[in-house]
Amino acid sequence: MTPAARAARGPGGRSPVGPWVTASEANRARVLQLLYDMGPLSRADLAKLIGVTRTTVGSVVQPLIDGGVLVEGEPRPSGAVGGKPARPLWFSRDGQPIGAVHLMPGRVAAAAVSPVGEVLATAGGTFRADAPDGSAAVDLVVECLRRVLPADGRRALGVGVAVGGMVDTDTGTIVEVSLAPALSGLPLAPLVSRRLGLDVHIDHHPRAQALGDRWFGQARGVRSFASLYLADVLGVGLVLDGAVQRGRAGAGGEIGHSVVELDGGEVCNCGRRGCWETVATVGWLRGEARRLRLPGAGGLTPGRLAERAADDPAAAELLDRYARNIAVGIVNLQHTLAPGLFLLHGDVVAGGEVLRAAIEAHVAGWVLPQPGGPPEIVLAEDRDHATLLGAAGIVLSQSLARIR
Ligand SMILES: [Zn+2]
Repeated sequence: MTPAARAARGPGGRSPVGPWVTASEANRARVLQLLYDMGPLSRADLAKLIGVTRTTVGSVVQPLIDGGVLVEGEPRPSGAVGGKPARPLWFSRDGQPIGAVHLMPGRVAAAAVSPVGEVLATAGGTFRADAPDGSAAVDLVVECLRRVLPADGRRALGVGVAVGGMVDTDTGTIVEVSLAPALSGLPLAPLVSRRLGLDVHIDHHPRAQALGDRWFGQARGVRSFASLYLADVLGVGLVLDGAVQRGRAGAGGEIGHSVVELDGGEVCNCGRRGCWETVATVGWLRGEARRLRLPGAGGLTPGRLAERAADDPAAAELLDRYARNIAVGIVNLQHTLAPGLFLLHGDVVAGGEVLRAAIEAHVAGWVLPQPGGPPEIVLAEDRDHATLLGAAGIVLSQSLARIR
């Protein structure tokens, strides 16, 4: 990067470098992005897609191969027009690992993730969420990362932390986690960065989840989509035209607190009334099941409700109301930003096709006719590692953003 480009970066190094970026830096970012979007590609494929010569692509990829970032695959037979057999390029599984952390109230999960999205090692632990300060949480994050990252001196590309609360992505500070007051105001990224000597980036949990979908999951190569987390809280990560949307200082994505009930409504976790979270969480579902005196209401999950709905009309009706209440938030997002694809994560996934189809039907009934067609509702496949892969995705997005 040129000094001018470096100077153009804002605090946290994330501001676009715009016209100061060199042509080779821009081409390098395009190559990496295309590989993540489309899978293994040959030099000839890359040249065609970027609109540059093969020589230019060669000068971009050779240092990446020498540096162990990319590897050449087995030669593929040449096409009908003949020529040299093409060797597809892809990320090296042995390339720099990425540190990934999911910080929850009282709990830490961490992993080392390879550049191709494999979880190489995991560690975890608990801390006291009601502690007087966040030092125990910082200690645990550092300890877990030391356990998963290679001890052989291979340097990690960076560390991404997904936080279940509001964060200031510019300063790497946790603004507020209502269930763990010790974390509120904690400058987590600079503290962990100093201890480990690595770049550390934090982001809001559903936004990290969206980056996991985008780099390693079902939204690979999709330019615009919404990644919804629907469980005991609600959140959204939005990717529009290839870029994750954070809003000012990273305050966006708090869709759980968008207002859907104007007259009264239940009190939300946030202390306000009428939030979407008061009618579309698993907590709401259990409350309604208790009110309707459904058996096992206290431990009800979307999965169990969907099973029961097959032969219990009261359960079927509750499932449909849950689907409708979820659809409200989706329709509002679709009308505002039209992401077109909604990937659902969290407890809602266990509701399976019955619940998915019901949500889609309610959305279709509410949404205006739009040129892109009605939005697609898709259940996430990898429920175990979505957030940790997303935390790794934060690091990839940041590294590409710097040279974009
Ligand atoms: Zn609220």
